[in-house]
Amino acid sequence: MERSFISELTEKENNKKVLIKGWVSEIRSLGKVQFIVLRDKTDSIQCVVHKDEIKSDLFNKIPKISIESVLEIEGKLKTSKQAKKGFEITIEDLNILSESLTPLPIDTSEKSKTMIDKRLDYRFLDLRRPQINAIFKTRSKVFNIVSNFFDSKGFYSINTPKITAAGVESGAEQFSIDYFGKEAFLTQSPQVYKQMFVVAGLERVYEIGEVFRAEKSHTTRHLTEFTGIDLEMGFIKDENDVMNVLEELMKYLLKEVKEKCKNELELLNVKIDVPKKIPRITLEEAKKLVEKKGKKVKENEDLDAEGEKLISEIIKEKYDSDFVFITLYPWEKKPFYHMRDPKNKKVTKSFDLVYKGVEISSGSQREHNYNVLKEQSKEKGIDIDKMSFYADIFKYGAPPHGGAGIGFDRLIQRMLNLENVREAILLPRDPERLTP
Ligand code: ATP
Ligand code: MG
Repeated sequence: MERSFISELTEKENNKKVLIKGWVSEIRSLGKVQFIVLRDKTDSIQCVVHKDEIKSDLFNKIPKISIESVLEIEGKLKTSKQAKKGFEITIEDLNILSESLTPLPIDTSEKSKTMIDKRLDYRFLDLRRPQINAIFKTRSKVFNIVSNFFDSKGFYSINTPKITAAGVESGAEQFSIDYFGKEAFLTQSPQVYKQMFVVAGLERVYEIGEVFRAEKSHTTRHLTEFTGIDLEMGFIKDENDVMNVLEELMKYLLKEVKEKCKNELELLNVKIDVPKKIPRITLEEAKKLVEKKGKKVKENEDLDAEGEKLISEIIKEKYDSDFVFITLYPWEKKPFYHMRDPKNKKVTKSFDLVYKGVEISSGSQREHNYNVLKEQSKEKGIDIDKMSFYADIFKYGAPPHGGAGIGFDRLIQRMLNLENVREAILLPRDPERLTP
């Protein structure tokens, strides 16, 4: 007999013979009747057996089965008013494929109180909980939705090296590795390569890949290895074109998630609001708004975590949007490759996207003129000609372009209202954690 997934079974199939496989969530023995709640990747179902309807050795075996053991159960689907789903399986045969040891190292029940550190140590057991499972089912859907979006907008998916000689970022956050006796680094951003392949003629590229940052942050939003959704696009008029794509992506993504992840969102008790329009305000305006609420921000300073939270609250109240673009960041705070605003050289044509109080993306128009880049890098104390791998990109015909990097893990964290970014990634890496 072929295996059925639990979510495929319906009330209409009364009396149908079925074979299901999965993990034991619950066993209840009430003398002459016993119940097993079996769970597969799709759902769980109550299975029932009466003492006088089955061989006695099988009946006696059931109370000894431990939670999380793996079983296959053959039986008949029966409609039942008492069962949660309106039907249950009456067990005819049962086979233990793998027994679980007891006690479990972590609590896998719905109301588990195990602390996150311990849960992460046993992540494969942690995911046995449907709510935790739902986070990663949603994450998988988001991956596909984002890829489809980029595809429909004429972006090509690229895969760029994660082991590199050097990047164009400051270098302070790079992990250094020994590469056959030479020093190499884990990539801190695919910035160089994204620009390279726009200029190479692909015009629009994106990459969903690993990004490494050697930052010793112990916050709920920093990891040392995270997944970046990076995009870069050529022939833009200005940075607003990049923001337009991001805005469209967020609207499309949230609409799709609402439709395609109904069960998961319900399990996680998450309500998603699709923004009608994402407001765009300058950093100067944002600072004035938070200052009105009593928060001081120094000149030339960015909004800190508290500032981002506050501005989100203000925007939510004013525009009913969970998102806000904050634009025109000071040149002093931004990397040399950002394009400066010709109207005000003190700022760059840059933006951050803040979602429910946390930055989830940064982007900008990039400087594509080699001579200007050289000047700008000099101002930052960098000699661009020493980075010929980068400088050369702009010498043989480079269109105006811009792009952004979105933190995939943070996006999921914010979307699903998770307290910690570690909840949004299967196996987080942080300054304290290298395992499992
Ligand atoms: P932050 O100021 O919050 O540390 P950043 O400005 O240094 O972030 P960017 O270089 O702009 O980060 O990276 C692009 C995006 O990647 C960020 O908006 C964020 O969503 C994500 N990101 C950056 N650093 C991390 C990290 N350490 N862990 C998880 N996600 C990150
Ligand atoms: Mg940023």
